[in-house]
Amino acid sequence: MPELPAEPRRPQNVTDTSSPSAPAGSAFVRRTDAAGEPLRLMAVHAHPDDESSKGAATTARYAAEGVEVLVVTCTGGERGDVLNERYGEVPGGIEGMREVRRHEMAAAAAALGVQQRWLGFVDSGLPEGDPLPPLPEGCFALVGLEDASAPLVEVVREFRPHVMTTYDPTGGYPHPDHVMCHRVAAEAFAAAGDPERYRGHGEPWAPLKLYYNHGFSLARLRAMHEAILEAGGESPFGDWIESRQAREIPEREVTTRIECAAYFDRRDAALRAHATQIDPEGFFFAVPREVELAHWTTEEYELAESRVPVTLPEHDLFAGIAVQPLGSLAPADETTGTDR
Ligand SMILES: [Zn+2]
Repeated sequence: MPELPAEPRRPQNVTDTSSPSAPAGSAFVRRTDAAGEPLRLMAVHAHPDDESSKGAATTARYAAEGVEVLVVTCTGGERGDVLNERYGEVPGGIEGMREVRRHEMAAAAAALGVQQRWLGFVDSGLPEGDPLPPLPEGCFALVGLEDASAPLVEVVREFRPHVMTTYDPTGGYPHPDHVMCHRVAAEAFAAAGDPERYRGHGEPWAPLKLYYNHGFSLARLRAMHEAILEAGGESPFGDWIESRQAREIPEREVTTRIECAAYFDRRDAALRAHATQIDPEGFFFAVPREVELAHWTTEEYELAESRVPVTLPEHDLFAGIAVQPLGSLAPADETTGTDR
């Protein structure tokens, strides 16, 4: 933990609240809510690796700036296939996979500098075929909403996040666990503050804002695709863009952009920690860093619910909650944003 000065520093030059702030290790004053409590962010994800592919640099940034960040992982990811051809086989069936992915998750959390908790549900797997096969018995997506939400309500009441993030109602990706993840996170956001609901699962706590992750917006994919081609490279995004356009699902609204380029290295280290899932030469690493830095330095969110007044668009998940604006207290050093 960085040392806290005895007296809070006054914000200076609070004009640009969207500038990237310094990486971990820099002096900062811990931002608080109006009651003087440190800010807390909870990112709810379906599988180990989702926290590293969706909003990872944002969580790394907030953690480095003294926000308490907790990643909650609904399932053990035990029905994930080995997606990295270079990895080889994982012996031991779903038990073996669960074990491997626990280690991967711990390494990813360390890379991001965040805390992490498991809810203990079993991965539903991604059903494939026509017609789709039934989901496996006992899997996360088949659990009733209240039973599936109770453990998350408990963690919300214990950790007391001001802000929660999760996926939009479509899951953002057609995996039954991602849709279920949205449902339990929305339920916990709605119910955790209600003393009449989920009795026996802790003292009520109402989080103030709920966001959906939109890091894979069509706008970003297109921008990356065009930038890679412009730089003379090969883009892996062409087919993805076409299939997204063909799906005819309306693009969700982006309300909130978080500057986090200084934490792209941490995001990438966290992704690499999921060695069974992430090919180090695959599409997650297809965008050269200089292209990414020149064209897209933010992660995107949609503010889905708020219990505090807000002004959109935003550049801080804690806008309307934090006493001090984002970036106002950290040294404005934009040149040493990496920690390789
Ligand atoms: Zn997932």
